[in-house]
Amino acid sequence: MIDVFKLGVIGDPVEHSLSPAIHHQFGQQTNIELAYKAYHVKKQELENFIQAFFKNGGHGLNVTLPHKLDCLDLADIVSKEVDEIGAANTLRINDQKKIVAETTDGQGFIYDCDQKNIQIENKNILIVGAGGAAQSIIPAIAQKKPNNLIITNRTKEKIIPILDKFAAHSLNSFEDFDKEIDLFINATSAGHLNSFAWDEGNDLLTSNTVFYDLSYGESARAFLKWSSQFSRKSFDGTGMLISQAAHSFNHWFKIMPNINKINII
Ligand code: NDP
Repeated sequence: MIDVFKLGVIGDPVEHSLSPAIHHQFGQQTNIELAYKAYHVKKQELENFIQAFFKNGGHGLNVTLPHKLDCLDLADIVSKEVDEIGAANTLRINDQKKIVAETTDGQGFIYDCDQKNIQIENKNILIVGAGGAAQSIIPAIAQKKPNNLIITNRTKEKIIPILDKFAAHSLNSFEDFDKEIDLFINATSAGHLNSFAWDEGNDLLTSNTVFYDLSYGESARAFLKWSSQFSRKSFDGTGMLISQAAHSFNHWFKIMPNINKINII
């Protein structure tokens, strides 16, 4: 019987991760004693770190940039979604002592949309951005059966392999799209430089459009200001951040914590 569960997040950099604060609150909420730490792991240390962590009693890891892809090489088993997306954010050890890679970003996004009553089914959904975060939410959104799921990106060539990769999910390019956008998802990292601009189809944005930035806190400020010219329905990614963490916790302990009781300020 384990008294204290050893958990952590690995990344480079990782010092500003909010995951330790979130998971400690989940632990308190569920009466599970855990030691969750942020580990600064460089690329060349990744293999040794993950193997040693689980060999020495580690129960689970979150994985953040830049290791979300490379950690798959260390996993014995990958979930169907991880296989499709090609990246993971959660590692766990199963009863056979095998390392299992999961992704919870998509579930976290959908869970937060449900909490905020953001409709996806039968709606026109636009994703702006084509990096890891954009790709990680595509299968989960597609499962909710939107009317149209479309994507655009600053660097247009990056869209082509993504359309190919997610062809089974009816993902299409924004080019020539001419219907009203119901949900506009900012999956760019522009906000980290305190900027956001988009003018590819402003006539498709209305006061009914819901705007959702995957970035959160200060990094979402520029997007929220930009979107306020169209609609008052704008959200940052804090809820997704907490929800994806809750789904990781659920993978480790088979308990879904209450995301509404988390304070990360
Ligand atoms: P990546 O580096 O993989 O991708 C960045 C994307 O942003 C690319 O599409 C890039 O376009 C685009 N971009 C960057 N700068 C600009 C700019 N100035 N103007 C327009 N487009 C720009 O990052 P991630 O996908 O991993 O992360 C994206 C955001 O999502 C980050 O802010 C991250 O914090 C957030 N995130 C939030 C999560 C949550 O739980 N709330 C979970 C995961 C991520 P190009 O291809 O042209 O370079």
